[in-house]
Formats: sequence, structure tokens, C-alpha cells
Amino acid sequence: MRDRALSWKPLSIACVVALAFCICQEHSPLLGRTQEGQSRVEAGSTDSGAQDAEFARLVKEWTTLPEFLSPLVDHLPVVAGIPSPKDILGHHIGEPRKLTYYSRILKYYRSLASSSPRVKVLDIGRTDEGRELVVVAISGEESIRNLEQYRAHLAALADPRRLPEAEAQGIIAVAKPIYHLMGGLHSSETGAPEMLMELAYRLAAEDSPLIRQIRDNVIVTITPVAEPDGRDRYVDWYYRYLIDVTDERHHLPGPPFWGKYVYHDNNRDINFSQVITRALLGWYLEWHPPIIHDLHESVPFLYTFSGQAPQNPTLDPILFGELPWFANFEMAQMTRYGMPGVWTHAFVDAWSPGYLGFMASNHNGMLRMYETFGNGGATTMKRKIERESEPSRSMASRQWYRPLPPYKEVEWSIRNNTNYMETGVLSALQMTAAFPRIILENFYRKSVNALAAGRKGPPFGYVIPAGQQDMTRVAFVVGVLQTQGIEVGQAGTGIKVKEGEFPVGSFIVKLNQPYGRLAKILLEKQEFPDPNLRTYDDTGWTMGLMTHTDIREISDSSILDVKVERARAGNMTGTIRGDSPTCGYAVVHGGSNFMITFRSRLPGVQLQVAEKSFQAGGTLIPAGSFVIPGSAPPDTLRQVRKIVTDLGLQAVALQAEPQVGMHEADLPRLAVYSTWGSTQDVGWVRFALDRFEVPYELIYKERVRQGQLNRNFDVILIPEQAESAKGLVFDIEPASRPLAYTRTAEFQSLGMYGQSDDISGGMGLSGALEIQKFVENGGLLVTLGSASLFPIEFGLTWTVDTRRPSAQFYAPGPIVEAEFLKPDHPIFYGYPSKPVPVRYAGGPLFQVQEKYREQQVLMRFTGTEKSVLSGLMKNPSEIKERPAILDVAAGKGRVVMFATNPCYRWQNHGEFNMLFNAILNYNDLEMK
Ligand SMILES: [Zn+2]
Repeated sequence: MRDRALSWKPLSIACVVALAFCICQEHSPLLGRTQEGQSRVEAGSTDSGAQDAEFARLVKEWTTLPEFLSPLVDHLPVVAGIPSPKDILGHHIGEPRKLTYYSRILKYYRSLASSSPRVKVLDIGRTDEGRELVVVAISGEESIRNLEQYRAHLAALADPRRLPEAEAQGIIAVAKPIYHLMGGLHSSETGAPEMLMELAYRLAAEDSPLIRQIRDNVIVTITPVAEPDGRDRYVDWYYRYLIDVTDERHHLPGPPFWGKYVYHDNNRDINFSQVITRALLGWYLEWHPPIIHDLHESVPFLYTFSGQAPQNPTLDPILFGELPWFANFEMAQMTRYGMPGVWTHAFVDAWSPGYLGFMASNHNGMLRMYETFGNGGATTMKRKIERESEPSRSMASRQWYRPLPPYKEVEWSIRNNTNYMETGVLSALQMTAAFPRIILENFYRKSVNALAAGRKGPPFGYVIPAGQQDMTRVAFVVGVLQTQGIEVGQAGTGIKVKEGEFPVGSFIVKLNQPYGRLAKILLEKQEFPDPNLRTYDDTGWTMGLMTHTDIREISDSSILDVKVERARAGNMTGTIRGDSPTCGYAVVHGGSNFMITFRSRLPGVQLQVAEKSFQAGGTLIPAGSFVIPGSAPPDTLRQVRKIVTDLGLQAVALQAEPQVGMHEADLPRLAVYSTWGSTQDVGWVRFALDRFEVPYELIYKERVRQGQLNRNFDVILIPEQAESAKGLVFDIEPASRPLAYTRTAEFQSLGMYGQSDDISGGMGLSGALEIQKFVENGGLLVTLGSASLFPIEFGLTWTVDTRRPSAQFYAPGPIVEAEFLKPDHPIFYGYPSKPVPVRYAGGPLFQVQEKYREQQVLMRFTGTEKSVLSGLMKNPSEIKERPAILDVAAGKGRVVMFATNPCYRWQNHGEFNMLFNAILNYNDLEMK
């Protein structure tokens, strides 16, 4: 069947002229294009020009079996004036024991760009540690010269509201798809940043029919390394420790950090908190690549994502046709080349929208993803794939989606990995180049469908009412939606719809916009389609529930007609009611996470916390609010007003002293404890503390073992980390030699965010004893999620036990209801006394002896079917009335244990205050 787009071609050209898209005739991309659906080449044909004989010989040598090589990558052209990777790096890609540092990678791309008119490097930002972030564009000379024009074409297709169908077809006829490749998001997955350099060279330099067709019809863009800080740290670590490991049984751990904060979770940053993820999203929303292809490494030999169930049903169904279309083509091509182990199913599903590359699917494009087989470095290694205990589930087993399975045992090299990845990517590009208009047509159609879905409803939109008690979390939600490219409006008048009346200034998200579907995905309740399906990450993320903000789903279509202006939520300013305070100010604790910021911005100033609510000038000031006395110096009062305004808080001028109990809001000397072996969830807590300006010291086993902890700290916070108490205490198994994480002249990226002469061994029993002493002597220990197993199993809180749920219980990150048993406890300052949504963290099920329950249990899970608010929890009765937060006195100190993780991935902002309140009221937690 002929492609529909073809029949519009004559009309399209006319439209293009009419629209004055300034593509000169002699450079018309149409001239160089093969007919849609035709591939100019059967793969394997190569460039007839000069070839690099050394490359061909070495690649054969480095590939461990002949079938791990393909005709697409067994050769490399030599072109005068265009540097190959070897010309700049000194070695061919895939040489054993060679990994490239980021600055050398950048140097290569810049050299290529300066010598080839087919390559351009775009700057898109900086990392936490100041490294440049770039996107490299490679295509035919004409495309690179007119890159801005092609960007504009895709931007036009991405927003069909101002684009009549005929004009769209005109654009589709002359536009080119951008196919974006991303490597190096996960630093231990070292192959893609190497492979992409060779691919870039091949695309720029090779003159085979296949490569010419790709250059003519596709614009390839590349993120060379998505996490550059982590790349350099990992390469340092590889050269220092891993380079000689040739048998996976002698595997050593990786470096404690990749990037500054969140390690592997840089692929789970659903709210785009990190600078690297934000930079990429910013670039994406400008350039609109219909495809992002994210290159990962984990399983043998090449898994290509096909979008298996559970699938998010709000996404366009076209996507779920496109994904296997690509995956099956790659599998067929590579299998035809004789490469075993290419498969497409039974690994990653299409439920969570939170993976970084998913930004493409979320914005009417397509996320594609590979997992190839990496050795965590460049050393050739013996790998065993068959797991003896479960041969039927082995990835070496034959399945319908794995007709030519990987081998059970293999000697594997980084060149094998390069061959697989590059052959797969070239096959994907081959298909894109053969069907460029279908890719563009699909992209456009998904955007059109998104508009139609919003008009068709219900729901038709969401309203975030103005006047909520804490507008800073509303600002957070609106800010995230806008960062995602979602239009958020604000009405100049009150709104009246079927669901009720909303005041002036309420935020409106209409779903008849290009990214309306993404808005719906982020704001709706997640209804998991089948409780018998497993999923790869969280099942629930509803933003209103995660942030404890009131967000209403609107099924009244008149919401689409409300006149709105673009919302300006980012600079939400605070308010101060009343003037000339004779008795100072009260800063209202309405649940804002900036309360603790307010405190830390006034170091040295005495602040009181009201322990009960009180009235001031007709305003109810809730418990937990700060009170600044009128006797404070005028300069302090001025500062108070400024900080309240800057942070979006609310203050009330007091005309009389509050007649309620108060205690001092002194900030503790806070330590955050991290193991060396699992820094990721600690990283999210560090990130939140940094963003809210809470001072702390990051400590490791070295400091704990020194003892005398009370001398330096009032509070020790142990964020979620390790899966067991034993894991937390003993951490990394000692290796045959010490694994120092220290900065040296040779290894400049190591020793950041802490140093250790040997990261193995954990705090050990002596460390556990020091923490116990810290508590006995009056310190506060706060443990989150799985870290709460530690005080329980090591006997710091011997009135508490834990249990594991049964095998029938399955709860991958849903949002559930919890109820406060002690609503007046300082941990709940700023919260309503009714049940609240919390993210279920899969932590320990606490068991408290009956006689202590009333005293120690602060919050518990409701545990009914109805209390599962979003996502999946199978058999919620297993957590029925189970404690979720405990406050246990021990010696002169206390231990506050969360079964939840109140500081999870910059996501559950509604729960953050349970942690912040514990910190702020650390020496006043005992209820009077
Ligand atoms: Zn990965």
C-alpha cells in the first residue's frame, strides 16, 4: 500500500512556497530523497572509497566470536580531513581496557564539527560540577546548514493548533525527522558514549548507500554523555580498580557517586529536578525530536523496548504500534546478520512516565530504548547468563520474543557491545530513513489526536483553586507542569463549572492542548490495568496527592471556553496581614516546605513555635507557626517581612502576645548518614535539604566509628538506603584490597562529597554501638523507609518488631491513605487532622506491643481497598492499621522511625514536612 503522505506531495510543495519557508530550491531535501518505504541499500553494502584496514583487522580481533560482528560496522572509511575517533583519541572505539574521559569525548565531537559541514555541536547547559552539556547534530550538509528551518518544521508539527491540515502536509513533505540518541545516563553503562563517537564519524564520513540515505532523510542528534560528572568519576574508578577484573565472579562495586546527587535515579526524575534532566527537557521542547532513543546496558545481548503491558492508556495508541514496528525490524535485521540474542519483550513496560527519555512519548513522540550487554567497563570478561536456579526464566532461554537467544556462557568484550549497539541503531536509522514521512505523519497525528482527546473529554481540564492554605506547593506543581511544556492558565475572574465555583486567580489546565495528555497523565488518578501484571517502577504519581494540593478534575466542557492568561506561579509572593506589629509577627505554618528555609535564613535570631493554634486579628494561627517577638530589633523584623515575601509564606502582625505554650525553634546540628554502598536515596534527601537550605553535615562510617557523636550532632538522619539492617551496618563486602574513594593527582573526580580510605565494611558493630550511645545520651535518630529496620533489628528500640508482607502482597509505589493518631504531635504541624495521602515505600511493617501503641504510634496506614488512592496495592489488608511513623523514647534520646519515605525523589512534597518538622522540633517532640 502506498503511503498516504505521498499523495499530498504536489499540494505540499505549493503550500511550502505559499508559506515562504525559506528552503532554497537547489537544496530542496526532496531531491535527494528516495521514495518513501524504499531503502536504497541492502545493508552490508559499503563505501567504495578508502577503508581503514587496521580498523577492520582490530575490530575482528576484539570481537570475541565472528557472529558478534555485522556488515554495518566491520569497516571504517578513511576520509582526508575528517578525523576518525582514533585520530583524536589515539585508539579505535572498542579497544579493550580503554574508556574515554568526557573532555576527550567533547574534543572529538568538536574536531569532527570543525572539519565536517555535516556536524554541529549545540551547547545546552552545564552540569552540577560545571561540565558542558551538548547535543551533537549530524546530517547532510543541507540539513545542517538549514538546521533552524528543520527545527521550525518540527515545532510547527508539534503544535497543530495554528496549522491547517493542508499546511501540515506541506511541512511533512519537506521536514525531516530528528532521531535523538542518548548515551551515558547511567555511568557504569560505559559502552554507548564510546560507540556514539564511532557512529557520528560513520554518519559524517561514510559514503555507502545506507549512510547516504540516512544523511539525506534524517537528522541524527546525540547526547554524547547524559551524566558527564558521573562519566568522569566512573572512568577514574575503572582505571583505579576495575580494569583487571576479567571474571564477573570477582566483581567489585562501582564508585559511591556518579553525578552529585541521585545516581541511577537520574532516570527517574519525574519532576525534572536535576540540572542535567532539565537541560535535556529544555532542548527537547525547542527541537521536538519525534524519537528519543536511550542506550542502556544490563541484559544480554540486545533488548529493544517494545512498549509491553502495562501500558499507560492515556498515551496515543499509535505509539504502541510504532514501538514494536521498530523493535521487530531491528530484531529481524540483526538476526539476519547472524547476531544471536536480540529480543523485544518481557523486560520493561510502558506504565511510568518518569523515565528521562519518556519525555518523547509524553510529548507525542516516541521513547525507544536498548539494553545491551556491558561489562561495567572495557575489560573483556567471562559472563554467565544462565541462572542455574531458574533455567526457564533465563535470558538465554528461547521464547517467542527471543527466537535466537543469547548464549548461556560467553566471553564478552566492549567491542561486542559496540557492534550490537551500533548495528541496532543503524538499523533503526535505516528504517527511519526509509519511512521519514511516516514518522513525521505519526508525530503530527499524535499531536492532533492529543488536541482532539482534550476536546472529547471527560475530563476536559483540571483546576487548581486559588486560596489554598499553602500556595508554595501549588506553585511547585504549576512550575513542574510549565517546565514540561504544559500550558497553565489563570482566569481573571471567578470560574463556575459543574464541579463548583473557583475564585479569581485559580489555575486552569485545559486538556485541548498539545501536551494535554501529559497533563492528564500527571494529574489523574493512576488506575493500574491488571493487578496480575508486574511493572518496572512506581505505579502511582498523581501530583495532587503527592504534593497534598487540591487539584480538581473537571468534566464540564465549558472549562475549555474560560478566558485565561498564562499563569505566573514561579514568583508567588508571600503576604503580611496587618501592620505596625506591637508584639511581633506570627509566620503561619500552612504546610509550606519553606518554613524550614525561613528558619535557616535567620540564623542567630530567636524564634518560638506556637504549640497550639490561636487567634490573631481574626486569623487562626495554627500550631507550629513561628512567633517573632516585637522586642526583636527593627532590622530583624524587616528581614522577617522580606523573607516571608520572598518565600511565598504568610505572616500576621501581632497586636497581643499569643497565650499558648511555645518552644524555641532552634535548628539542630544535623548529620545525614550515608553508607558508601547506596548513596542514591540519601542523594534525594541531600538534594531536598540543599534546595530548602537546611544545613547539615554528610557523614559516613568513618565519622560514626570515631564516636562522641553527641559532641557534634543533635540529630542523625538515616535516609532510606540498603535493603536490610545488616546491609546498612555492614554495607560493602570487604575486597582483597582496600577500595579508597579519595582524590589523587591521577583521579581528580574521586573523593567528592566525602572521602574514604576504604569504602567497604560499613559502620560495623562498633558504629552501631556509637549510634546507640548517641541516642542514649539524648540525641534524636530519624530513620526513613528501609533504614528503619536498623534501630529495630539492632535493638535500639526493642519494643518494636517488624514483619514482612506475604507473597500475595504487591505494592510498587502506590499512593495510599494514612491517618494521624496523634494529630497534635509536632511532626504534623501544618497538616490537617484528617487522613492524608502518602507514598507507600515498601518499607518494614512495624509491629508495636499493645501497651506501647498509644504512646509510640504517630501515624498508621488505613489499609482498606478504598484507601489505595492511586496506583496498585494488592491485598491492602496486610497493612491495615500498621504503624507508619513511630516516635520511641530510648535512654535520654528518641528514635523517630518512618515506614514511609517522606522525602522521595523530589516527588512527595506533601510529606516533606513530616521530616522537616521532626528536624525543626527535634528537642520538643515529647508530648506534654
Ligand atoms: Zn541504565
